Amino acid sequence: MKGFRQASNREPLIFELGGKGRTGIAIPEPEEEVKRRVGRVEIPSEMRRDREPGLPELSEVEVVRHFTNLSQAAFGVDNGPVPLGSCTMKYNPRIAWEIAGDPRITNLHPLQDERTVQGLLEMLFELQKWLANITGMDTCILHPAAGAHGELAGVLTIRRYHEVKGQIDRKTEIVIPDSAHGTNPASAAMAGFRVVEVPSAEDGNVDMEALKSIVGDSTAGLMITNPSTLGLFEEHITDIARLLHEHDALLYYDGANLNGIMGYARPGDMGFDIAHINIHKTFGAPHGGGGPGAGPVCIKDRVVDKEKGVRLSDLAPGYRVIYDEDTGLYRVKGPGEHSAGLLKAFLGNITPLIWGYVYILSMGPQGLRKATEHAVLITNYFMKLMENVKGYTIPYGKGRFRKHEVVLSAQPMAEEIGVTAEDVAKGLLDAGFYAPTIYFPLIVKEALMVEFTESETPENVEKYVERLKEISRIAYSNPSEPKTWPRNTSVGRVDVVKANHPKHVTPTWRIHVKRLRGEI
Ligand SMILES: *Cc1c(COP(=O)(O)O)cnc(C)c1O
Repeated sequence: MKGFRQASNREPLIFELGGKGRTGIAIPEPEEEVKRRVGRVEIPSEMRRDREPGLPELSEVEVVRHFTNLSQAAFGVDNGPVPLGSCTMKYNPRIAWEIAGDPRITNLHPLQDERTVQGLLEMLFELQKWLANITGMDTCILHPAAGAHGELAGVLTIRRYHEVKGQIDRKTEIVIPDSAHGTNPASAAMAGFRVVEVPSAEDGNVDMEALKSIVGDSTAGLMITNPSTLGLFEEHITDIARLLHEHDALLYYDGANLNGIMGYARPGDMGFDIAHINIHKTFGAPHGGGGPGAGPVCIKDRVVDKEKGVRLSDLAPGYRVIYDEDTGLYRVKGPGEHSAGLLKAFLGNITPLIWGYVYILSMGPQGLRKATEHAVLITNYFMKLMENVKGYTIPYGKGRFRKHEVVLSAQPMAEEIGVTAEDVAKGLLDAGFYAPTIYFPLIVKEALMVEFTESETPENVEKYVERLKEISRIAYSNPSEPKTWPRNTSVGRVDVVKANHPKHVTPTWRIHVKRLRGEI
C-alpha cells in the first residue's frame, strides 16, 4: 500500500552537479567612485590560495531545483504523521512561526538595556506564569535548552537542597524506574548521584514493594515521568510522593509526557517538587534536526531553610524574569548566592519559548484540554485497532486505557519467524510511512512505541494500521522479504551500529568527492 511519501532515488550532492564556469549570480562591478578611491587591492601572496577552492559551479535554476528536490526527499510532520513515541511530534502551528520571526523579536540582542526589551520580557514573564499554572508549581525558569538540560537543572537543584541542609554526604542516590528515558540516569549521574533502578510491575505502575525496599536514608530524590513511557498513568503517584517526602527526598517530574494529562492533572498536585517541560514536545515548537529546544523547569516554592530564608526556587540555576512593582518594569534576575549557577548564557532559547507562548495563548485553557483529549482518544483508537493483530502484542497494563502513547511489541513475530521491530520499521519506511520509536522503553522487547498526538486524523491512523497489518501478512507468508526492506528509500538498510559511530560516518563532501574521483 502507499503511504504519505515515497522517497525518490538518492539526490545527487551539489558537488556532483553543475559545470565549469556556470554561475547563478553576477557580481556587479564596483562603482567608478569606489574604484578610484580604493584602487586595486593586492592580497598578500602568503594569504592567497595556491589552488582554486573547488566550489560547485551551478546556474540559478540548478540551485533552486537541487534544494527543492532535497526538501521533497525529507519527511516531516508537514508530509504526514511522525508517530515517534515519547517525542510528541505534533503539528507546528504557522502562526507561532510568523510571530517568532518578527524582526522586532529576531533583531533583539540579549545584552540590550532591559528598558528596550520590555515587550519580550513581558511575554517570557507570562510564559513563566502559565507554565507554573499548567504544572501546578509556583515558579519557573526558562533557561535550560532542552528536556535533558532541564533534568540536569532539576537534579542540580536537588543537590543544592541537600547541600544547604547539610546532608549531601548521606543523600547520594537518585531512584529511577526501569521504564525511564536514558537522559534521566544520565542527568542524575552528571550531577554526581548514584542511580538506583526500581522495576515496573505487570500493570505498568512502579512496583511499590520494590520501591519501599529501595527508598531510605541515602535517597536524595526520585525522577519519574507520568504518564510513563508506556503511556500509562502512574496510579501510586501520591503514595510515591509521600514515601519520598517521609525520607526528606525530592520528587522530580520528567515532563516529556505532559501531553497525556495537560489541563486535566498537574504534577504539582500529585506531590512533585520540580518539573521540566519540553516546549518542543507539548507546546508545538519544532524539534529534531539538532535545532534549539527549550526545557523550562518549574518549582514548588517550599521553604528549605527558614532562618536563612532560602526557598527551593532560590536553588535552581539560571536567570528568570521578574516584575518590579516600584518601577513598573520587567527585569532579568541572575542566579542568587544559593543557586546552582548557570547552565548556559542568558534567559534561554527565545525562539522555541515564543512558539510555546503563542501555542498556549492561541489554544487557551480549554484548547489545551482539548489537545490532551484528542491525543488520548487517538492513541486508544489506534490501540483498539491493533488488538489481536497477528505478530504484535501490547504488553503491560492489560485492559488499561493509555494516555498519549502506546507501546506495541513485535516479539511474537521475532520469535516465530525472525522478523523484528526493526524490520517492521523498515517496512513502514519502504511504503512511505514514518516509523515509530523502536527498542524503547527498554523493558519492552521488540518495542514499537507509537504516539500520534492530537494533530492526527482517524483516517491517517487507520491507514497506518493497515500497513502494520500488511507487514504482518507479508512477513508470515515470506519471512525473508522484510529483510530486504527498505527498497524504495534513498538510502537502504544501514548498519545501525556503524552509523552511530563517528569513526564510520563521513559527513563531509570532501571524502565523497575524493571517492567520486577515484582517489580513495
Ligand atoms: C524527550 C524525552 C526526554 C529528553 O528531552 P529532550 O528535550 O529530548 O532533551 C526525557 N524524557 C523523556 C520521557 C523523553 O521523551
